Amino acid sequence: MNTATAPTTFEDIIESLNPLPACTFRFDDIPCRHRAEWHVRKRACCHPSAADLMCDTCYFRIHYFFDLGVHFECAGCGTRSTTFATMYPIAARL
Ligand SMILES: [Zn+2]
Ligand SMILES: [Zn+2]
Repeated sequence: MNTATAPTTFEDIIESLNPLPACTFRFDDIPCRHRAEWHVRKRACCHPSAADLMCDTCYFRIHYFFDLGVHFECAGCGTRSTTFATMYPIAARL
């Protein structure tokens, strides 16, 4: 068996099987990589706003945090977001 040409890691194998866009979010520094269902754009403050892909799980998880009263603070300027719509002015289903 020739192991030199075969994909060597689990992630390489998944990558080659899955051409669908994946969620770009991280929770606790672990990339999510679920199938993306949402396109979101973060508010622009001290960082240039970037387009992101989010899966249903992350989308509802972040809504859930806001429902619990969690505020997200920008790591750069300290601006607080108290609702999903303030943090992500643009959110559209793919
Ligand atoms: Zn900021
Ligand atoms: Zn996700």
